[in-house]
Amino acid sequence: MPLEAPLRHATGAHWGRFIRTIVEVVTDEGIVGLGELGGGGESAEAAVRGLLPYLKGHDPLQLEQLRWKIMNPTASLYNNRLQLHAAIEMACLDAAGRKLGIRACDLLGGAVRERVPFASYIFYRFADAGTGRGGETSPDQIVAHARQLVAEHGFTTHKLKGGVFPPDHDVEVMRALAAAFPDDRLRLDPNAAWSVEEAIRVGQAIEGLKNDYFEDPTWGLEGMRRLRQFVRIPTATNTVVVNFEQLAANIRLEAIDVVLLDTTFWGGLRQAHKAGLVLETFQYGASVHSSGELGIQLASMLHLGAALPNLGFAADAHYHHLTDDVIKGGKMRYVDGAIAVPAGPGLGVELDRDKLMQYAEYYREVGGYAYDRDPTRPDWYAVLPEQRWAAARSAR
Ligand code: MG
Repeated sequence: MPLEAPLRHATGAHWGRFIRTIVEVVTDEGIVGLGELGGGGESAEAAVRGLLPYLKGHDPLQLEQLRWKIMNPTASLYNNRLQLHAAIEMACLDAAGRKLGIRACDLLGGAVRERVPFASYIFYRFADAGTGRGGETSPDQIVAHARQLVAEHGFTTHKLKGGVFPPDHDVEVMRALAAAFPDDRLRLDPNAAWSVEEAIRVGQAIEGLKNDYFEDPTWGLEGMRRLRQFVRIPTATNTVVVNFEQLAANIRLEAIDVVLLDTTFWGGLRQAHKAGLVLETFQYGASVHSSGELGIQLASMLHLGAALPNLGFAADAHYHHLTDDVIKGGKMRYVDGAIAVPAGPGLGVELDRDKLMQYAEYYREVGGYAYDRDPTRPDWYAVLPEQRWAAARSAR
C-alpha cells in the first residue's frame, strides 16, 4: 500500500509503501473472517497456508486451544509463529463475531468506549515526487506538517518519531511542537537509538513539556530502568516488553511505566488485551502500538481500544500516512482525532477485492523493502548509537 511519502526512523525507513498480508479464514458454513500481518510475498503466503492443517475442523471460538496448537512455547523455539497466529486469531474472532452477530470487542468483554483517540504520529519524511508530499526535516517544516495533520484529522496528541538526526535536533523539534500546540500532548520516540546517558540528557531537556511519555529512548529493560531514575517523564516501550515474560520482569524491576500493546507483536488481539489487564492490575499504563496497519489490523486496534478499560493515552497509528485502504468504503475517517469503533459484527470491516488485487499487482511491480535500510544511504547500517549519530549528521 503506497504511503504519502517515505517515513524515516533511526534504523532506516519505510520506503514509501507498507507490505502486508491479508489472511482469510473460511468456516464450514462459508463465513469468512479477515486477518492481517506485516510482510508479504510468496514466503509469507506459504507460511500462512502451512497452518491450514491446524485449522481444519477447529472451532474458531476455541481460541485458547488454537493459541496452544500454533504458539506452544516449546515448539516456538523451532517455529516462530507469533504473528501468523495473531493474523489467524484476528480472522477467527472476525468469523465468530459474524456468526454470532456480535463485535470482536464483545468477545473480549464488551466496549467501554465507542471512539478511540489517535496521536498524529509525525515522521521526518523523504520527499515523494509522485504525491508532492514529504521532505520535512527542520522544526518549522515539522510544525507545518503537524498543522496540516491537525487540520485534516483533528489530532490533539503529537508523537515525533525521532532518532534520525542528532538528539538535539529532536529537542528543537519537540520544543517547536510544544510552542505551536500549547494545549496538546506530546511524546518522543527515537526507537531506542541513544545510550542511557544521552537519553537521560534529552529527557531532562524536554521534561518541562506536556509529555505523555518518553518512548524507548534507550534499549533494554535495564537501560530504561536506569533512565527512569533521572528523568521525570513517564517512560514507555513497544520494543522490550512484547511478551508475558518481559511484562512480569518489567513489573518486578519497575522499569517502564507504560506498555504499548500491539495486536500482532503480542501474538494476537486476545494476548494484547490480556497484557492490558495485567497492566491494569499493577496500575501500569497501557497504550496501543502501531506496526504499520491497513484497515483490517486497524479494526483490531479499535476493538482492543474499545475493550481495554485502562487505555489512558491516544493510540498510535501509521494509518493517516496511507494513500488508500483495501476495505470497502475506503479509509476509515478520523473525527476530532478519533476513529469510531466499527459497528458491524466481527471486526466490522469488509474486504474490497478489487483494491486487494490492485495493490497485490503493485507489490509484484515494486517488491518489498528492508525495514532496517535507508534507500538514500545504501552503504549505511544502524550499528552503535555513536555511529548512527555520525551518519545522521553527515546525512542532514
Ligand atoms: Mg515505538
